[in-house]
Amino acid sequence: MALLLNVTDPDRISAFEAMFRDFPIRLVRSDESYDPDDIRYVFTWQPLEDWSAFFDLEIVFSVSAGVDQFVDLPDHITLIKMVDPNNTQRVVDYVLAACLAITRGFPVYSEQQRHKLWEPQPIASFAQTHVAILGLGEIGTRTASALKSLGFRVSGWSRRERDLEGITCVSGEDGVLSLLGSADIVVCLLPLTSETRGLMSASFFAQMKHGAGLVHAGRGAQCVFDDLGAALKSGQVGAAVLDVFDTEPLPEASAVWDFPNCLITPHVAGRTDAETAARNVAENLTRHLEGKDLLWQVDRKKGY
Ligand code: NDP
Repeated sequence: MALLLNVTDPDRISAFEAMFRDFPIRLVRSDESYDPDDIRYVFTWQPLEDWSAFFDLEIVFSVSAGVDQFVDLPDHITLIKMVDPNNTQRVVDYVLAACLAITRGFPVYSEQQRHKLWEPQPIASFAQTHVAILGLGEIGTRTASALKSLGFRVSGWSRRERDLEGITCVSGEDGVLSLLGSADIVVCLLPLTSETRGLMSASFFAQMKHGAGLVHAGRGAQCVFDDLGAALKSGQVGAAVLDVFDTEPLPEASAVWDFPNCLITPHVAGRTDAETAARNVAENLTRHLEGKDLLWQVDRKKGY
């Protein structure tokens, strides 16, 4: 009975080796030889090449909060997402930085700098700025309250009805439409599912308030990048801060590099801590051995 550690980062490997030194489940590294029949558990960022080779596999632990890459995981295998408060805080900080940058015009000034232009823009206050957050989960709710505490007007969209103090919460298709028309900044913190794939397309951008900003830190495939490029060029979307892309790393030939008023970061909004990841997996495996319910289990039907 072993846990396969399918990662290459030295910090993750040493954190797991330290955590599992005296643990009742053996740790196996993917770069050593092992018998697939021994593997009951896997910790991995990417899906394994052939799940069917692991006959007794019971639980897959994702390195990341997003689990869309495991769409082909057989249904009988339990999937666990990563919930790391430090990672959550990093994404919150990223979105705060992006919203501050958009509010004070940094993507636009960066564009002006390229063209040696000196054109002061109107200055908006945080209190005048309405930020709509798509996705009110682990990360979205904390982002909403952090933005609120800075003085932004905040609303959010989720599948279920939510009730968060000081945040206007909406759900359903009508809900998102009601936010798009009035938000000065739209932040995407949604998981990638069949419902959210391609959500941000031409019609979505057309519903946004003219000149509003976009922060995208969910998953690349939620955005139709050609449509976003057209919306940025026409000014319908006034600025964008993008952390995730349909192909990563973003290819050199991608048109996204040249989108106007757009800041690009290489999928760095969050990163899971090695120690927290090892502790989370050990805690959940202890629960599993004790026959208790597992934490952070993904609802395979919903896809997140
Ligand atoms: P959660 O699963 O905790 O929350 C997801 C939220 O999205 C929930 O509020 C859920 O609604 C909502 N949602 C899902 N589908 C829909 C839909 N069709 N319509 C409306 N709302 C929907 O996820 P996390 O907060 O942990 O993470 C969110 C995503 O952030 C991850 O899946 C990942 O893609 C991305 N991420 C990106 C990182 C980066 O470095 N750029 C780092 C970490 C995460 P409900 O509450 O009703 O269930």
